[in-house]
Amino acid sequence: MSPEKIRLNTEWLCDCGGCHVSLVDLHEKILNVLESVQIQKCPVLTDEKGYPEAEIGILTGSIRTEHDRHAAIEMRKKCKTIIAFGTCAVYGGLHGAGLAHSREEIMDHVYLNSPTTRTNFIPATEVDGLEKLVTPIDEVIEVDLYLPGCPPHAHFIFEGLSALIEGTAPRVRQESVCGGCNRTMKKSDVTEIKNSADAVADDDICFLSQGFLCLGSVTLDRCLSPCPNHGIMCTGCAGPTMQILTEPNRDIRTEVSERMARLTEIPSEVIRKSMEQSAKTHYAYAMATKMIGDKPTFLIRKWIAEVEAS
Ligand code: SF4
Ligand code: SF4
Ligand code: SF4
Repeated sequence: MSPEKIRLNTEWLCDCGGCHVSLVDLHEKILNVLESVQIQKCPVLTDEKGYPEAEIGILTGSIRTEHDRHAAIEMRKKCKTIIAFGTCAVYGGLHGAGLAHSREEIMDHVYLNSPTTRTNFIPATEVDGLEKLVTPIDEVIEVDLYLPGCPPHAHFIFEGLSALIEGTAPRVRQESVCGGCNRTMKKSDVTEIKNSADAVADDDICFLSQGFLCLGSVTLDRCLSPCPNHGIMCTGCAGPTMQILTEPNRDIRTEVSERMARLTEIPSEVIRKSMEQSAKTHYAYAMATKMIGDKPTFLIRKWIAEVEAS
C-alpha cells in the first residue's frame, strides 16, 4: 500500500446491502477513488473481520441488533471520520416501519407465521438478538458526515468522498426532489385522489396537480429526481428536507396535503386522511428518527393501528 493512501473501512448494519452496491455504481469514477484510497475492510470486498484503524469509516444501515451496536462503536473507535451512508444509517430507513410492531410480533411473523420461511421455532442463539427499536446511528455514536439516499446517487457519493480525500468541506445542498423534476405544477379541477394502479398520469404535469400523491416537495434531493422524471411518484426514500426536519410544526402530511389541495379541488382533510391510511409507506424511511418521531403532529402509530384494526 502506498503510504499516502487514505485508509477506508466500511461496515453494514441492519440494511439491504444496496448502499454497498451503490459504491460500485461509481463505475469508472471508482478508479479515481481507488487511486487515493486503500480499502481495508468492506463486507462485499474483503475478509477483514476486525476493525483496523482508518481515516474514513462508512457505515450503512441502522442499529437493530447487538452486532449493529458493537460494529458501530468499534468503527467509531477506529475511524477518524464516520460517514452515515444511506437513509437507513441517517434516519433508520425503510425498516423503521417495523416500529409500528412489537419485537415479539416481528419475530413471530418472520419465524413462525411466514408462509415462505416457516421454521416453527424462534432461534435463541443462531441470530443476533433484536433490539427493541430501530436506531439511526447518530443516536449511538458521533457522526461526522451524513449522506442520506436509498441508496445515495453516485454523484453525491463521489462528491462527498472526493471532498474528504481532498480535505475540504463537502457541499451542503438543501434542494428538494421537486428542484430536479421536469413536471409543471398547475391548478387543476381534479376532485379525487388517484392510484397509479388505476389511472395513467400525464408525463408533463406535477403528480399532485393530477391527484397522485408525490413526496418530492418534502424530500431532500439525493438522487437527482429519477422517479418523477420517469413516471413514478416520489415516496421520499432520501429522507425529509431540512425544513421538515428542523421546523417543529412542519410535517410531511400537512405540507403535502395543503400543497395538493391548492393545486386541485380535493379538500386537504381528505388528502391528510389518505396519507394517514398509508402512513407506513409515506413515513417509512424516516420513521425511526427522533427528528420525525417527536413532532407534535406525528401520530403514526395511532394511524397504523386504526388502519390495521379496520
Ligand atoms: S438506505 Fe436503502 S439502499 Fe441503503 S441499505 Fe438502507 S434500504 Fe438499502
Ligand atoms: S411534487 Fe412530485 S411531480 Fe410535483 S414537482 Fe415535485 S417531484 Fe415533481
Ligand atoms: S423515491 Fe424520491 S427520493 Fe427516492 S429515488 Fe425516487 S425521487 Fe429520489
